[in-house]
Formats: sequence, structure tokens, C-alpha cells
Amino acid sequence: MTKQVKTLDKKQPSRNKSLTVMVLYPARMSAYGDQGNLLALKHRAKLHGYDTKVVLHKPGAKFDEKVDIILGGGGQESDRSAVLDDLSKIGPKLKKLADSGTPMLVICGMYQLFGNYFLTQSGDKLTGVGIFDTYTEDNPKRLIGNIITKSDKLGLLIGYENHSGLTYFNQGQAALARVKKGAGNNGRDRTEGARTSNVFGSYLHGSILPMNPRLTDELIRLAAVKKYGEFSPNDRIDDSLTEKARRAAQKRSR
Ligand code: GLN
Repeated sequence: MTKQVKTLDKKQPSRNKSLTVMVLYPARMSAYGDQGNLLALKHRAKLHGYDTKVVLHKPGAKFDEKVDIILGGGGQESDRSAVLDDLSKIGPKLKKLADSGTPMLVICGMYQLFGNYFLTQSGDKLTGVGIFDTYTEDNPKRLIGNIITKSDKLGLLIGYENHSGLTYFNQGQAALARVKKGAGNNGRDRTEGARTSNVFGSYLHGSILPMNPRLTDELIRLAAVKKYGEFSPNDRIDDSLTEKARRAAQKRSR
């Protein structure tokens, strides 16, 4: 996007409204470009007229509950081990925030840990936060490739998946989307991701938010409505480059 377009797109004047975004374990849980989600969220929030304050939550740090949006990304086994202890401590606070409608987006490794448990290949059962009524079983075969899914509310969600964990739902858990191309939660039931209250979980890297602005806007909308009681979107954002990228991504083979 050129500088000129950016200026035209931005909401003027800024209404001095601000959203606090927390990233869970950025040094550990941010696989395959998931840090792009923070960049997209900050950029898009600005275009809608909101400043952002970023809180990077590290293992052992005090958990600051004054937060408007929470992001978490993917990570491998050693990363997961490094954060598990802290996650069990902050889990009840995350749950309370989820119950009060705080929007969150967790990808892959963190998505798995927002469920009830993760069963490793050696049979260890790692307790999750339990925001999603899901469980994940690790599997020798990795599910890797481009993925296209369809959400009733958010349209096509496009990304890239790379996981060995297979996620299953208990009865009543809602999916984020249906798989059109790719594997999704477990490669069998065509579900992808999960949604509980305003918490979104997904296997989509890519990163997901730059590629799927409707989801980005939804997180901002939910946060703004919760904090300020209203959200008036900037409807002059130029999404033509993103649309081009999305069209190209849909033509890529698995
Ligand atoms: N290690 C987990 C899995 O493969 C998570 C991978 C990820 O977060 N990218 O299922």
C-alpha cells in the first residue's frame, strides 16, 4: 500500500480511543509468521481510528487483566513445555476474560492448549485452559499445506497449516469454519478451528489476520463494542492488494 493510500484510508481525526492487545508468549509461541497477526491488528485498528498498546506476556510475568484483545500463536514441543507452567497459572484469568466477552485469537499450538488437554505421542496428558471443549491427540503424521475454509460469518478464511496434533470436539463445541481444501482440525470431520464466546481458535498460519481482514475487523469490532459500547468501521479501507493475494492463494495447490 502506498503512503498516499494509507493517509486517505486512515480515519481522521483520531478519536483518541485505544485498545490494549496482549500477546501470549511471543518469544516461544509464534510459529510460521504468527507475529504478523499483531502487525495486522495494529495496522487495521489504526485505520479504524484506534491506537493500540501492546503487552507482551512472558512466562512468570504478572498477568495484567486490563486487556482488550489477546493473541497467541503456534509453537513446537520445547516451546510448549516452556509456557505450560505459566499457562496453568493464568488459565483461570484467561477463562474469566473469555466469559466476559474479551476477544481472543489463538493459533495452532496455543489453540490446542486452549482446549481441555493435549495428549502427546508418549502418552502424557497436558492439561489445557479449557476455554474450548476440545482435546488434541498428537499423531505421527503431520498435516501440512495450504488450507481454505468457509465460515458462515466471516466468509472464506485462507491460510497454511502445519500440525501433527489432531483436535476433536466434545458435543456442543462450535467450529470456526468448514474445510473446503486441506485438513483442518483432524483431517476427518471437515471442521476447522473453534469458537467459544468471542474466542477464536484456528490452525491457520499465513499469518491468518493479514490474509483475512474480516476476521481482523471482527476482533477489533468485538473489542471496541465491549470497551466503548460502539464500533463505527472505516469503510474506505483499500483492500485491493489483500483481495489480489486472496485470489492468488485460492489458486495454489495443496
Ligand atoms: N506442535 C504442534 C503440532 O504440530 C503445534 C504446531 C504449531 O503450533 N505450528 O500439532
